[in-house]
Amino acid sequence: MIYLDNNATTPVDPAVREAMLPFLGGVFGNPSSAHGAGRAARAAVEEAREQVAALLDCEPGEIVFTSGGTESINTAVRSALASQPGRRHIVTSVIEHSATKNLCEGLEREGCEVTWLPVDRGGLPEVAAFERALRPDTAIATVLWANNETGVLFPVAEMAAAAAARRVPFHADAVQAAGKIPVGVRGTDIHLLSLSAHKFHGPKGVGALYVNRRLGFRPLLAGGGQEGGRRPGTENVAGIVGLGVAARLARERLPRTTESLRAMRDRFEAAVLERFPGAAVHGDRERRLPNTTNLSLPGIDAGAALLVLDRLGVCCSIGSACSSGAPDASHVLRAMGVDDAGARSSLRFSFGRLNRADDVDGALAALEQAVARMGALRD
Ligand code: PLP
Repeated sequence: MIYLDNNATTPVDPAVREAMLPFLGGVFGNPSSAHGAGRAARAAVEEAREQVAALLDCEPGEIVFTSGGTESINTAVRSALASQPGRRHIVTSVIEHSATKNLCEGLEREGCEVTWLPVDRGGLPEVAAFERALRPDTAIATVLWANNETGVLFPVAEMAAAAAARRVPFHADAVQAAGKIPVGVRGTDIHLLSLSAHKFHGPKGVGALYVNRRLGFRPLLAGGGQEGGRRPGTENVAGIVGLGVAARLARERLPRTTESLRAMRDRFEAAVLERFPGAAVHGDRERRLPNTTNLSLPGIDAGAALLVLDRLGVCCSIGSACSSGAPDASHVLRAMGVDDAGARSSLRFSFGRLNRADDVDGALAALEQAVARMGALRD
């Protein structure tokens, strides 16, 4: 199998799995227990907190463990609303992941006002329009750092500075950015940041929320005092340990990972553009994650191509994993002005740290075979 769907999820790094195993076996204590078994679990959770803090260049006390990106995003936005009762306005973009999109649509129904920032053909918002959208009653500005479908990078440092100048808390959804590009918050005005372990070779169902220590905070759930009262419930110790090791590996390997992802993605993309006349890449090609390419192959039905490629041993996706199979064209591509035909023929290939250079050749051969087969079916 050639796995080129790393924006959907990534394989767990063997070192991550090894580190987790004791916590599914003999080291089973509750981190809140005062005895030795509990203290062993507590020590592991705190080591993981330090590892995640190192990836984000923040203080360990600013890390709250959660069940993943979706919970982190919900917590960030609802906490901002709950801790600033007079503020009921939110600024976000039209190309957010469904976690943010559906949350904000729900909040509109609950009486909040949301400004949905448009994007240009490259998938980028205008910073001046973002600044104009900020108001005295804005509770939070929340945007993607990197888009999951195209990989396009928002100018989050600039946007965060603009928000800070207007005293508006800024949340970055760094779920796709973490592990692929540097995501340090030190020296930025990012007050809140979400990440998810399974996007960078950690386990599924665990993530973190960075909360700047000067920011007011209200937990999403009611319960015990875990995570300094910020996220009640007994900790997912094995998952948190896995997240910590995944964060350490991501940080240690980052420059090399970025370089090798870019080399594989660029070679793959260039070859597709050369071999398939009329093929087109969606999104700004400069300001983009190093691992992602979203491209249209004219005349090809992406849903059918995905299935043929799967039979040939290549995993990729159409739109985001969450919306795959849905009849609607991607809201991201539509917002970028891609027409229906372009959106319906678009495939996303996303490389990961465990891919090798020959995966590029294997995937290209499979794509040529799939397109030829589909052409034969059409004729
Ligand atoms: N944000 C982005 C940009 C994502 O790509 C995803 C996952 O696909 C999420 C949030 C949700 O993360 P999780 O699957 O950990 O809930």
